[in-house]
Amino acid sequence: MAKAAETSTPTRKTAPAKGARSAAETEKIRAALAGRRDELRHEYDQTLIEIAGLQRERLGDSAGDDQADTGTKTFEREQEITLANNLLERINQVERALERLDEGHYGWCERCGNPIPVERLAAFPSATRCVKCKQLEERR
Ligand SMILES: [Zn+2]
Repeated sequence: MAKAAETSTPTRKTAPAKGARSAAETEKIRAALAGRRDELRHEYDQTLIEIAGLQRERLGDSAGDDQADTGTKTFEREQEITLANNLLERINQVERALERLDEGHYGWCERCGNPIPVERLAAFPSATRCVKCKQLEERR
């Protein structure tokens, strides 16, 4: 967050320096990101419901459980919580991506500066590199 954003041009529309995306393309990315966020939120809600259910089960019928049953339920619940946390992290990533999109900083490869294809952004909202650069990096 150490960006020097307080320059003297607050109202001017900031266009990316390199071959700006068309408004239609930006809208496509925004729609893809928003759709992904809604999906993730739905999944997150479902997971929370499952956690609540497991919790209730654990409290409800633990009287007849032996140690192993209790252990399994605790394990299941911990897994659900991990899943929920992962989902929350992904939701945050998508929301950050949407913010950066509004600022015009989103969707550009941080290595070569080329626009990352819309399809790739839709599939991986947190992608910060184009496929080529990602592959180059992975080969190292
Ligand atoms: Zn690149």
